[in-house]
Amino acid sequence: MKNHTVCNSGAAVQTEAEIAELCVHLRSVFQERRTSGYAWRKEQLMQLQRFLEEREEDILQALHEDFRKPQTETWFTEIHYLLTEITVALRHLRRWMKPVTVHTPLRYQPGRSYYICEPCGVVLNIAAWNYPLQLSLAPAVAAIAAGNCLVIKPSEMAPATAALLSDGLKDYLDSDAIRVVQGGAEVTASLLTHRFDHVFFTGSQQVGRLVLSAASRHLTPVTLELGGKSPCIVDKGTNIDVAARRIVWAKYINAGQTCISPDYVLVQSAIRQDLLDALQRAIDAMYGPGSRERGAYAGIISEGHVRRLQELMKGGSIVCGGGSDAQSRYVEPTILTDVSLSSPLMQEEIFGPLLPVIAYDTPEEAVAVVRSAGDPLALYIFSPQRHVYEYFMGHIHSGGVCINDLLFQAAIPALPFGGRGTSGIGRYHGRSGFETFSRLRSVHRKGTFPENALRYPPFGSLKFKLLQQLFKRFH
Ligand code: NAD
Repeated sequence: MKNHTVCNSGAAVQTEAEIAELCVHLRSVFQERRTSGYAWRKEQLMQLQRFLEEREEDILQALHEDFRKPQTETWFTEIHYLLTEITVALRHLRRWMKPVTVHTPLRYQPGRSYYICEPCGVVLNIAAWNYPLQLSLAPAVAAIAAGNCLVIKPSEMAPATAALLSDGLKDYLDSDAIRVVQGGAEVTASLLTHRFDHVFFTGSQQVGRLVLSAASRHLTPVTLELGGKSPCIVDKGTNIDVAARRIVWAKYINAGQTCISPDYVLVQSAIRQDLLDALQRAIDAMYGPGSRERGAYAGIISEGHVRRLQELMKGGSIVCGGGSDAQSRYVEPTILTDVSLSSPLMQEEIFGPLLPVIAYDTPEEAVAVVRSAGDPLALYIFSPQRHVYEYFMGHIHSGGVCINDLLFQAAIPALPFGGRGTSGIGRYHGRSGFETFSRLRSVHRKGTFPENALRYPPFGSLKFKLLQQLFKRFH
């Protein structure tokens, strides 16, 4: 292996042997129970908060360097998002760590039953590039809150952010327990040969399968935060201008490189043209001439991704936008119609600023289009009528839903976030992240008095009948 480093302790790890050594080291730190207590968790979360606040300028610059991510977008979707997750964790940590007492049936009393959330142990977070800071650190917030030792593997596709994490975090966090490993597929594969107690992965379905398979060798539980084609259904009767503005905002933030971005729009035929006109007006207002020069619109992560999007564009008629330049990694906000459902545009996750708009006549037709692509990560429905959105929610399974808006289902810290079926396994954010990185341990505690002699064999018929009555009557 070459060109990868493990940082934080100051010593860069260069070989597979060093990765192995790191894993052994983290396990011994975990076994010392150093990370389990409230004080350590609180201190690390506060230090992470300090990192985000004190290194804000460096973060803004790194994400700009990686793909010209606009400063406002970086602040809201990465820095502020993470600060909120930390605040929530700090506010609730003591309560989350408390044992939860449950009912003990009368027939098993006297005794007390409860469960505790214990740290998993040594965990691995493999991040995608599209929200490079958020996806490296939001699972880390949950893993730290739950008292784990942790390896963070940022995406090599966003090298400036990965370098900042690797160089920067070591000055803030306990580098004996929390490490950043830089590198690509080869490094991730090498990490996955070792036993972790939980693997958290954000990325594509294709790599998600590899991660799941590698983790299965150690029977390691995984969380897979994957992508897919999230639809936005626009029903007649909705406020078209508001719907269009919200769709454009959600689609073109991060230049469409968002896992919960509306991948395509399904609009009822009667309002198709009105919606197309409103979408164009919204694009002009938000991303009109000069927005690229002003740094108000993100770039595409690589020339290869621009070329992929250029190919996808061939799958429909361009209504607006369509401009692109691979060298400067730019693709204009684009709307397409006349899209065949069998074209690659509708067969793969777009993950860029191309928005196919497809008309439907009946709700059944819309449901069939969505179902053909597997369970989406997000489902968006614009309709003022409850029976309409309940119909779509009832007939389409998805990780999350947002009605009459978009993206907010992922921004509310108390809502669990994750996919279902092809869009992922498991959840995080807020308390659900803490639970993901915890193992629930059940405890039943008894005294040695009184002693119920009925429980022990031999069981004569009278004793058996008595026991049956006891079990039937005392819940
Ligand atoms: P990716 O699967 O290519 O890479 C993700 C991570 O896996 C990276 O750290 C990469 O180094 C590593 N990796 C790549 N190939 C590997 C291999 N062969 N073996 C082991 N590790 C490997 O994904 P990406 O391009 O970084 O991200 C885009 C995808 O992520 C999209 O599908 C998007 O929808 C999804 N995504 C999902 C969420 C979510 O929360 N559900 C969030 C962001 C992105």
